[in-house]
Amino acid sequence: VLNENDLKFKFNKNFEIKKNNSSSNICNTHLNLIDLKIKKEIINKKCFCGKLAYYKGLEGKLRYFCKEHYIEYFERKIKRTIEKYKLLNDKERVLVALSGGKDSAVAFFVLNKLGYNVTGFHINLGIGEYSKKSLEIVKEQAKLVGKSVMVLDLKKLVGKTIEDFINNPTKRPACSYCGISKRYLFNRIAYELNFDVVVTGHHLDDELNFLCHNLINWNLEYLYKQGPKQEKEGKFVKKVKVLYETEEKEIMAYANLINIPYYKGCCELADNQKTKKYFFFWDRLSEENPQVKIQFIKGFLKNKEIFKVNKENQKELKECEICGFPTSRDICSFCAIWDKKITKEDLKESLFWID
Ligand SMILES: [Zn+2]
Ligand SMILES: [Zn+2]
Repeated sequence: VLNENDLKFKFNKNFEIKKNNSSSNICNTHLNLIDLKIKKEIINKKCFCGKLAYYKGLEGKLRYFCKEHYIEYFERKIKRTIEKYKLLNDKERVLVALSGGKDSAVAFFVLNKLGYNVTGFHINLGIGEYSKKSLEIVKEQAKLVGKSVMVLDLKKLVGKTIEDFINNPTKRPACSYCGISKRYLFNRIAYELNFDVVVTGHHLDDELNFLCHNLINWNLEYLYKQGPKQEKEGKFVKKVKVLYETEEKEIMAYANLINIPYYKGCCELADNQKTKKYFFFWDRLSEENPQVKIQFIKGFLKNKEIFKVNKENQKELKECEICGFPTSRDICSFCAIWDKKITKEDLKESLFWID
């Protein structure tokens, strides 16, 4: 059995391997580390009901829960986040962006359980085995939740896939093609098919990672826009993060307890050295003070006005000359990379449903 230091070593080692060998699977190591931490933290603790604890949670103070009470605690936490930030209401048509991973799957499952009107949405990005396996798992998630899931085939829509850029490298890293395409299509599909809101699986650790990155680089305008909710603005549909106050390890514990199927590998094109850069930093801090992550986020939301950029420096939104959707340039990033005008009909033709 590996101990925590071995795993940390393996984790760092994988970063190095990653540079030479694209098939190394860093996400499994990351997940193993989280799992190990969960097990270590709850040794010999008991739930308030007297049963052995499965996991701990923050509710004002630190509390330990058995399986049954952990599930209750977790769902209550999501409900409170939704109410606190006024993220969703019962009447809205909610589109949940599903990647195949645990975070979006848990959001989909819990929102459905809480009675929201959810529809799943998955984009088949056409990235080899990663996309094939993700689609298979999304099918299992749809079955478990008992709701239909829409799938958009990117290759059918634009005639190319992200892999085509790998053989023909340009200035951008692969992840940016993926990010631009996902952001654009979540919004475009929601807008064209009359959804009120898009839910993504971003959680507390994602948010901390983003804040650290943008503080270190002093990207003020990104910081000001960051938060649990982006309101509707013209052709931008409302976007919310229902897992905003939830740590990744809490989500993983819940997914494993309920047996929610999720893809445990990671994208073969992803550069995890970048995306998980601040993971250990926050982990170390929260070992000393379990409240530190949520305190930092709450403080950020309270003070983020200080990052507000003057109107003169703000990039004004206009309509993309090709697709007509909002952008700060003449042509939006999606139209610029795929070089194809997408109509509402094109979108509908590249969609299929899984029940
Ligand atoms: Zn209990
Ligand atoms: Zn465009």
